[in-house]
Amino acid sequence: MSAVPAKPKLTIRLCEPRGFCAGVDRAIQIVVLALKKYGAPVYVRHEIVHNRFVVEGLKAMGAVFVEELADVPDDGQPVVFSAHGVPKSVPAEAQARELLYLDATCPLVSKVHKQAMLHVKRGRHVILVGHKGHPEVIGTMGQLPEGTVSLIESEADVEAFAPADPAALGFVTQTTLSVDDTSGIVAALQDKFPEMQAPSSDSICYATTNRQEAVKAAAQGADLFLIVGAPNSSNSKRLVEVATGAGALHGALVQGVDDIPWDMLGDGSVVAVSAGASAPEVLTSAVLDAFRARYDVTIDLVQTAEETEYFPVMRSLRDTPLAPADMAFVNGGA
Ligand code: SF4
Repeated sequence: MSAVPAKPKLTIRLCEPRGFCAGVDRAIQIVVLALKKYGAPVYVRHEIVHNRFVVEGLKAMGAVFVEELADVPDDGQPVVFSAHGVPKSVPAEAQARELLYLDATCPLVSKVHKQAMLHVKRGRHVILVGHKGHPEVIGTMGQLPEGTVSLIESEADVEAFAPADPAALGFVTQTTLSVDDTSGIVAALQDKFPEMQAPSSDSICYATTNRQEAVKAAAQGADLFLIVGAPNSSNSKRLVEVATGAGALHGALVQGVDDIPWDMLGDGSVVAVSAGASAPEVLTSAVLDAFRARYDVTIDLVQTAEETEYFPVMRSLRDTPLAPADMAFVNGGA
């Protein structure tokens, strides 16, 4: 009888916190609860969160994803707005059509909306630091009257920016940016416009900051840093940049097991693993299982924070009970 050859060894540095944030969890719960309460179909404007696996899972339960409200029929079924937030014109249109709508905008995105509106109320032109075309940026700009907000994406944009009144400016940022890149842009803005007013608290959210901190702590000396997340997920893409910036030899964004670049690894490799705020834990678990199937894996937990944030769903859905099995498609188990 021939002996089974020993598996090569591999160390995984597993980041904690990783994966779902409270805003994403809440948004998915809202769709699941709406399906339980109102039955299918439940319309969802845009991807509820930036993850194809989540979207497909909700579709299988009866959610129908649409691009615009115009695509929602007047059949009495509810429509859910995504966690990224929407311009004011969207709920206004829903009200005008008397649609039943559920706004799943993350409370921390709503907070940025309020901060931006406060700047305008105080007579300031708003500078929004963020990425053009991202739904959150479209939603935040859409809170403000025409001509009262400018988007700044880089330090080069700061140089070119020539506001009408440099003494009356206030800034906010997208919630999912790189903490370090953003502080560079904000410092450049403060240098050029010393009277610019900051928001009352940081716009980059706790989940973005915590995930980036854990990635930084795990990156140094890692041969490969895998971030589980979607290519259109801003916070996931930032995690890959943070990983390579903090010392990982290579970084890769993977949607699941099929994307793992096995040829970059060998006996004794050190792999670090985290997941963006919209990536479900079932995908990360599958990635870890795939490593265990090929390697003799040692897991080192790299924990930099403990998260206790929880955002309850809106009152109208609180009478519908949520069982663990309802969320098993993203959390695993049942
Ligand atoms: Fe909210 Fe932050 Fe999660 Fe975005 S990443 S949904 S702002 S908690």
